[in-house]
Amino acid sequence: MVTCKDFLRELSDYLDETTDPATRAELERHVSECPNCWVVCDTTRKTIQVYKGMEAQPISDCIHTKLMEAIEKKAAESGHSGCCNGNHES
Ligand SMILES: [Zn+2]
Repeated sequence: MVTCKDFLRELSDYLDETTDPATRAELERHVSECPNCWVVCDTTRKTIQVYKGMEAQPISDCIHTKLMEAIEKKAAESGHSGCCNGNHES
């Protein structure tokens, strides 16, 4: 019986496909029955894919700046300006 704790401990091996077939089957059964672990597994797998995809190209400063601008703009529009600007008005 695989618990969430077991699953999370084996997760990196599971995603690397280095687990033995018996353990892998147990983990697959757990993830198919446990929404929490499914989300963790799915998120981790996508994160790994993103990092692998980025190996050849470093993160663009331009994209980062645009993202920050978009976040700041959205924050300003919604009136939540109290983030890290220090202007707690009203
Ligand atoms: Zn679980």
